[in-house]
Amino acid sequence: GGKAYSMMLRCRIPGGRMTADQFVAHLDMCDELGNSTLKITTRQTLQLHGILKQNLRETIKRINDVELSTLAACGDVNRNIMCCPAKRVGGIHAELEKFTDELTQALAPRTPAYHELWITDPDTGEKSLAGGGEPDARPVVDEPLYGPTYLPRKFKCGIALPEDNCIDIYTQDLGFIAVVRDGKIIGYNVTVGGGMGRTPSAKKTFPALAQRMAFVTPEQAIDVAKAVIIVQRDNGNRTDRKTARMKYLIADWGIDKFRAEVEKVFGEKLADCTEDDVHGFDDHMGWQEQGDGKWSYGLNIENGRLYDNDQIQLKAALRKVCTTFGREIRLTGHQSIIFCDIDESEKEKLIEIIQSHGIPTTEQTSTVRRWSMACVALPTCGLAITESERRLPSLIDGIEEPLAKLGLSNERFTIRMTGCPNGCARPYNADIALVGKAVGKYTLFAGGGWLGNRLAYIYKDAVKDEDVVDEMIGIFAAFKANREGEESVGDFCARVGEERLAELAEQAPKP
Ligand code: SF4
Repeated sequence: GGKAYSMMLRCRIPGGRMTADQFVAHLDMCDELGNSTLKITTRQTLQLHGILKQNLRETIKRINDVELSTLAACGDVNRNIMCCPAKRVGGIHAELEKFTDELTQALAPRTPAYHELWITDPDTGEKSLAGGGEPDARPVVDEPLYGPTYLPRKFKCGIALPEDNCIDIYTQDLGFIAVVRDGKIIGYNVTVGGGMGRTPSAKKTFPALAQRMAFVTPEQAIDVAKAVIIVQRDNGNRTDRKTARMKYLIADWGIDKFRAEVEKVFGEKLADCTEDDVHGFDDHMGWQEQGDGKWSYGLNIENGRLYDNDQIQLKAALRKVCTTFGREIRLTGHQSIIFCDIDESEKEKLIEIIQSHGIPTTEQTSTVRRWSMACVALPTCGLAITESERRLPSLIDGIEEPLAKLGLSNERFTIRMTGCPNGCARPYNADIALVGKAVGKYTLFAGGGWLGNRLAYIYKDAVKDEDVVDEMIGIFAAFKANREGEESVGDFCARVGEERLAELAEQAPKP
């Protein structure tokens, strides 16, 4: 018989903002049409797996019923645009959200209303278009932005505040850092050319942080975004998918030439970036005030995976929260969820729902677990070389106590894990990262940081699964013994470098 193709479905959820009804619709779809779990992605969307091809029409109908779209959530176009998901009333967040929505519209393919769903070949991980409401009838339309051939490769955008880089701006192809003066956004510093993915077999591939290109006013922003996309559309590598992301074009040209080409398409010279840059990162977990007398509660979801079992009922709890309160939901770039618009008098009830379903509250979750994330990997992702999402929780179990003994329980640092070098959980700018290398072996990275503006280096390659915990404890012990001032784990690793780190890890007293 033929292969049992099943689909991956990802909706477009700009800035991770959605209604309680839309969230419940996803829970229904994952139970009735998918594999009964749901993943909050690192791009503030929800991902369903295991949707059988014969359920395509039903799935599309359900998505339409709750006014969601899958358009441009995959493929060689602009993906879900990320934006700080914190709900703040009466401040600049509303402006950022408006900009996110306008940019989403401006960068969406002009294709008439049909939905893109992707079939993943279970053996190769290759994704192909499954058609939509009218399968196999992909219409040829005038695409002023993407042209008949779309982009050479996927394209990712994010919008951040200097004090809150929770969307990891330097990993995006195109980023906008808000420049705020007297409580108003006067423009954005535009960053270009970030991208995490690399291909194991191809030496010429590399992870890159974005570079700062130019300052744009709010009026210029959308046209400059389009100009960037057009430059990549017309000049990006179309002969080799491995080096087709915009970061390779920028590496090839240099930022000055790239900017000049963008200015040519845009039709005007641009101003230089202001000095404003990212300097903070709020993950929005726990209780935060919205500014309208209401509260939001960020709940850490380990690796973004929603499921129910005997011990823990995440899906049931979230359904209960949605049906009890019916308020807005927001997804974070760290695979977690924010419940918005909670009254002071309702706070206790919300926590009661969480706890009665066996879920640790954010306050009960260790700092290291809260700041960790993992990609899908085995058994669902066809490209996975190693475990990731299924393994990270037990790795964290193994380091929580040693961290406590070292007095480092409250240190904030990121641990990110992926099952292959493709880097879906943005490993290459984390304090510490594990990237699948070969069966049961990982490349251990160190020296990035939670702020996201520094690349990590390869600390040790091909670390066996059973040695990973000890290797990480070695780093923490070295940090404890040799830390200078207030430097973070990643700062320390970056300062000492790989060879010295290995020596210090060897010498440091283990907890
Ligand atoms: Fe799959 Fe993880 Fe590799 Fe992404 S990084 S392709 S989810 S194994």
